[in-house]
Amino acid sequence: MRILVTGAAGFLGSHLCDFFLSKGHEIVGLDNLITGSIRNIEHLAGHERFKFVKHDVTEYIFISGPLDGVLHFASPASPIDYLDLPIQTLKVGAMGTHKALGLAKEKGARFVLASSSEVYGDPAVHPQVESYWGHVNPIGPRGVYDEAKRFGEAMTFAYHRFHAVDTRIARIFNTYGPRMRARDGRVVPTFIRQALAGEPLTVFGDGAQTRSFCYVADLVEGLYRLFTSDTVEPVNLGNPSERTVLELAREILDLTGSGSALVHEQLPEDDPRIRQPDISRAKDLLGWEPGVSLREGLEKTIKDFRTRGE
Ligand code: UDP
Repeated sequence: MRILVTGAAGFLGSHLCDFFLSKGHEIVGLDNLITGSIRNIEHLAGHERFKFVKHDVTEYIFISGPLDGVLHFASPASPIDYLDLPIQTLKVGAMGTHKALGLAKEKGARFVLASSSEVYGDPAVHPQVESYWGHVNPIGPRGVYDEAKRFGEAMTFAYHRFHAVDTRIARIFNTYGPRMRARDGRVVPTFIRQALAGEPLTVFGDGAQTRSFCYVADLVEGLYRLFTSDTVEPVNLGNPSERTVLELAREILDLTGSGSALVHEQLPEDDPRIRQPDISRAKDLLGWEPGVSLREGLEKTIKDFRTRGE
């Protein structure tokens, strides 16, 4: 198959490119490089089945030749990035999703939206099931990302219903692994960087808030299964193994052998208190569940940070 990946130079996008290439498919990768990095795909330079196009997906996308799939993964994804780039975040979720859907319609390609657990906001239902509509502050600082993803889902369903585009929606929960930027602000790369540098780990609030962290290789396998399934409804993809931020900090100190202290900093506005995916739908419909434990995944990620000198 010939597949277009938007956000191809990002963390998830680049791992997706690798995975689809390893299955023998051809990839056209798009990225405007505002948060993505060429470094994530430089190993693909000269690959006979990979082509990179520097392009902003909020502008009209022209691709010659057939496409079987459009995987829409372009977006700032870290809270500090989308607080820094609020308009671009809204534009890529809205106009970028519209352009990518238009391309899928034109080519008769299957479309996958990278949606997010952020559509649930600070959830009142725990663990989060796909039938939950969420609890989002539209005008808060995180609203730019949450509402962009919610609009993206609405647009995807409208194209499915009105134009019969074959669509998939992945609600992706916190994912980590090699290639994350040391300074992207998300908790796993931040704690690893701080632990390796012997700096204090910055725990926001009291650290009792929870997240459930999925290793990137598991996530990409789930995305592939979703793409090749016939599931149009949104599907949660994530690892249900839930941790407090404090537990995560201690695990990273243990694995790095770091003597770093913990310092508490102010909790960001609207930071969700709890988050854990209910993955029953993914298990039933995709036969998927994550297999990599947090310890194992963190070990691989720490090794990558050490090797890259991040
Ligand atoms: N967090 C933290 N210290 C940091 C970065 C993040 O304690 O240096 C917390 C943050 O407040 C949140 C959790 O870790 O409760 C996960 O944050 P992240 O930015 O990774 O992703 P989110 O799930 O909030 O989108």
